[in-house]
Amino acid sequence: MSTKRVLYIEDNAMNMRLVRRLLTANGYTVIEASDGLKGIAVAARERPELILMDINLPGIDGMEATSRLKSSYDLAHIPIVALTAVAMKGDRERILAAGCDDYLQKPIDTTLLIETVRRFIGEGEPKPTTAPKETTAAPSPASVPEPPRFIFTRRPTTPNVDKLIEQRKLPAAALNQPAPTEPPEHTSSPLAHSMVSREKAPAGTQNSPDGEQIAP
Ligand code: MN
Repeated sequence: MSTKRVLYIEDNAMNMRLVRRLLTANGYTVIEASDGLKGIAVAARERPELILMDINLPGIDGMEATSRLKSSYDLAHIPIVALTAVAMKGDRERILAAGCDDYLQKPIDTTLLIETVRRFIGEGEPKPTTAPKETTAAPSPASVPEPPRFIFTRRPTTPNVDKLIEQRKLPAAALNQPAPTEPPEHTSSPLAHSMVSREKAPAGTQNSPDGEQIAP
């Protein structure tokens, strides 16, 4: 459907560029405003899903702009996340008292910013225009010839498949031919013991610990 729009009210070009790139890459549409009054006007016109509010702005500051937005019946529902470089005592309280729903410190932590945006308005759109076109435009002619291509090209180039088959066949083959030599050694029948002792007798005289202990 329509992409989620984030209004960023910011007078610093570098921060604006950083946030625009970050949000655009994550599937959001960024609307820009360079001061508080412009931000209020754009918010009223565009009705974005979320507002990122710089606090230190020319003209009215971010707290005043937030107060005006939150006192507007039509715009008060839009969540506002403040971005502030200065974090002195009482700043958080004042920012929240002005009506901000949350606040982030500068320099901007991109991971935290994206997490915060998602928390308020959810995920952005997956990817621009390629995915919908392929699925809706040509389903029958494109999907029919592709599957055999993938099957034929991938089978020879993936050795893991052969390894998996071998690994599964080996235990199955072993079950059909129960190991002939090992089980008799561990059985407890007297006949097996005698057989084992006879078999081991010639070789055991050299290495068995019993023989060494008796010898001295
Ligand atoms: Mn600023």
